[in-house]
Amino acid sequence: MAHNLRAARRYAGSASVFAVVKANAYGHGLSRARRAFAAADGFAVLTLEEAANLRQMGVEQPILLLEGIFSPDEVAACAELGLWPVLHHSAQLDWLERAPPSRPLTVFLKFDSGMHRLGFPLAGHREIVQRVRQMRGVADLNLMTHFAQADEPAGVDWQLRPFLAELAAYGLPWSSANSAALLRYPESLGDWVRPGIMLYGSSPFADQTASDLGLRPAMRLESEVIAVQTLQPGEGVGYGQLFRAERTTRVGVVACGYADGYPRLAPTGTPIAVCGQTTRTLGRVSMDMLCVDLSDCPQAGLGSPVELWGEAVPVDAVAAAAGTISYELLCALAARVPVEEID
Ligand SMILES: *Cc1c(COP(=O)(O)O)cnc(C)c1O
Repeated sequence: MAHNLRAARRYAGSASVFAVVKANAYGHGLSRARRAFAAADGFAVLTLEEAANLRQMGVEQPILLLEGIFSPDEVAACAELGLWPVLHHSAQLDWLERAPPSRPLTVFLKFDSGMHRLGFPLAGHREIVQRVRQMRGVADLNLMTHFAQADEPAGVDWQLRPFLAELAAYGLPWSSANSAALLRYPESLGDWVRPGIMLYGSSPFADQTASDLGLRPAMRLESEVIAVQTLQPGEGVGYGQLFRAERTTRVGVVACGYADGYPRLAPTGTPIAVCGQTTRTLGRVSMDMLCVDLSDCPQAGLGSPVELWGEAVPVDAVAAAAGTISYELLCALAARVPVEEID
């Protein structure tokens, strides 16, 4: 993970880096991420609880609350813990005005440049910026937006251009880039970048692999073969008998299933490695097990090591096969999976 932070820094140039560690650091563990990203300029989280945990762990850098405060009583906690809330809704401004924090806050005022999820409409910027500038509870004002298609051919220009056209004249620090924008659009860097997925060694793009981007996988999900079956032609394996053998087929049963966070929708043919050799899954993933094709792994047998994702099998490839993105797989790693730290 530290390697990927260094990579993010190279892409970021002189911009400061918030390491995005929401959702238990994309499934990697908050405290582990805090250590790996000790050199980050700041951290970005979703909840007050995550922020408080980081402070408890000794984090002294700025902590950005990506969706800001969810209720009026969180204002005081922001001041106490020195958190930087995003302000994206007028109710949040009301809460700050009604009960100004003991210490004025650094805030990120979020504008909606086309995502249409969170943020004030760009068209109303004069009124909103003026209002926030006058607030007793605000010390430092930064501007922010978020991209909807930074990972797609449509890119960021259609959002970045109006954002800057409307707001650049304020001369305030700004932040727009997630991993995809950081990797591809230097004009989007601004003063603070907000990489998440790339820090965990996964690519935000469908057309470029993590290794192409100089990133290293942070998580390896591994298990082993706990049974071996030999299917005769015509015989099926697993629920629904979705895979049927055309020829005699050696099948390995692997102790990993959807209750571990492996996607149930991964079809036959999803890449998986046995004894370091890439092969394919067979049939339906069940709760605690899945099956692999051992036809080309004659050396494999009971106890053979299996990599579900990691160095040999990019998590992006597994996600693509299952019709999703790596984010979902990493975040869904189940609590029952024992975690061993190697780095
Ligand atoms: C999660 C998040 C990010 C990080 O996105 P990645 O695609 O993982 O780099 C950046 N900004 C905001 C507002 C987010 O919610």
